Amino acid sequence: MARIALVTGGMGGLGEAVCIKLAALGYKVVTTYSPSNKKVEEWLATTRDMGFDFKAYPCDVADYDSAQACVAAIVKDIGPIDVLVNNAGITRDMTFKKMDKLNWDAVMSTNLDSVFNMTKPVADGMVERGWGRIINISSVNGQKGAFGQTNYSAAKAGVHGFTKALALEVARKGVTVNTISPGYIGTKMVMEIPQDVLDSKILPQIPMSRLGKPEEVAGLVAYLSSEEAAFVTGANIAINGGQHMS
Ligand code: NDP
Repeated sequence: MARIALVTGGMGGLGEAVCIKLAALGYKVVTTYSPSNKKVEEWLATTRDMGFDFKAYPCDVADYDSAQACVAAIVKDIGPIDVLVNNAGITRDMTFKKMDKLNWDAVMSTNLDSVFNMTKPVADGMVERGWGRIINISSVNGQKGAFGQTNYSAAKAGVHGFTKALALEVARKGVTVNTISPGYIGTKMVMEIPQDVLDSKILPQIPMSRLGKPEEVAGLVAYLSSEEAAFVTGANIAINGGQHMS
């Protein structure tokens, strides 16, 4: 039977590539979208035309109750979740001087609380069944910090701690927990950066002198989801064109 993969934020740049890759490998793929997202039907129709049969559920990953209700509905309608990709995330960049509580909280709850909110209703079932993959999408900026991103860097760094702690707790139960830390990937989140800033400030930081591709991150998610990756846990795998090595 096909394994079931839940990818949060599958309608975003990275998430869509992950959904497509996992579906192509035979996983039954379910995704979530923000309750305010008005483009769900369009996305489902487009991906259906591409040959995919994705299921999509509304979920505010930043909200604990919404996450519990979403996972319960998926388990009831489709079945237990074998692979969880915590991918949904936002940025609200500003220097610390301008950072207010609203933008701090929004980024912390969407990027870090979300990982707890979504993993909580999924992890016990994985442990009981003796098999599971939890993959958290962090960022190079959670590893090294970034100007104007005290909120985002803190939230993503928190994901690394969460990953390692949970990996220890479930290590003997067939469940792996890993973090992927992408550098700059050519999705909407990055393409919103003005071209002159990309050319003058961002590309010079990347030894490969290019942005990463969503498909390259999706390939890493596919590996960590696989049987072959059974001995990889608590890892933080960088995928950043050489921008940051640690
Ligand atoms: P996008 O902005 O393209 O997609 C983000 C996704 O997150 C969207 O699908 C969005 O859903 C979802 N989302 C945001 N807030 C919520 C919420 N409260 N509840 C549910 N879903 C939500 O970003 P990317 O694809 O570029 O980023 C994906 C992940 O990769 C993020 O965690 C990001 O931090 C990380 N990352 C990205 C990098 C890059 O260069 N692009 C680099 C490093 C890390 P909806 O559209 O329905 O609102």
